[in-house]
Amino acid sequence: MEKKHGTAIVLAAGQGKRMGTSVQKQYIELFQRPLIFYTLQTFEDSRVIDDIILVVGPGQEDYVYQEIVRKYYFTKVKAIVPGGNERYDSVWNGLKVLKNGALGEEAKKGYVFIHDGARMFVDEEILRRGYATVEKYRACVAGMPSKDTVKLTDEQGFAKETPDRKYVWSVQTPQVFEAELITEAYRKLMEQEEIHVTDDAMVVEQMTDIPVRLFEGSYRNIKITTPEDLEIARVFLRAGIEK
Ligand code: C5P
Repeated sequence: MEKKHGTAIVLAAGQGKRMGTSVQKQYIELFQRPLIFYTLQTFEDSRVIDDIILVVGPGQEDYVYQEIVRKYYFTKVKAIVPGGNERYDSVWNGLKVLKNGALGEEAKKGYVFIHDGARMFVDEEILRRGYATVEKYRACVAGMPSKDTVKLTDEQGFAKETPDRKYVWSVQTPQVFEAELITEAYRKLMEQEEIHVTDDAMVVEQMTDIPVRLFEGSYRNIKITTPEDLEIARVFLRAGIEK
């Protein structure tokens, strides 16, 4: 089968409040490179990705262009756009670049890989599994079976239900979709008065009748959120350097 166009939307417009640092987490340096550098490098090198749309904090576009995109020669980054208040606003701003045809017709008919910039340990195998799964199922998300037992609680914090662990997954990114499907689902979502979604799969679940397939991410594909995660990131990076 002919390879379809792959566009990555890399999200780096969050404020990272849980990190507790003055520098936004995506620009924190680890081994002399900003965190977002590692994420972008994997997409830049990937055989399934053709273009990257980078979503950053409003007003940071120039800084990111000079200090990251140009400095490290990320040639696949075709647009740097400002994000919005919520994650879904940021994704929508990225999708609008595609929808407006700025990346051409092939991109509109291809696949979109939506990825949290803070997941710096995404790798080529995950991207390829995403490509293979979206080809078959149209909508899919990376995840891993939960290692912990998960409980749903009531408002007071008492255990109410314990879902069977073999059906419980922790969901990650990339979340991968046919471009037309995800753009249309988001367009409909943005018309709603009240929006309650925390990932892209939920947009497809709420706005379409296409079932979303899970595919294997990796236990290393963590989202760098709190200071403990930075310690883990250093260990992973050091192990990678020593390989
Ligand atoms: O806040 P959370 O860690 O769930 O964010 C996941 C990803 O989405 C991060 O990479 C963050 O930069 C991005 N994000 C965004 N715009 C927002 C909120 C989060 O691009 N308004």
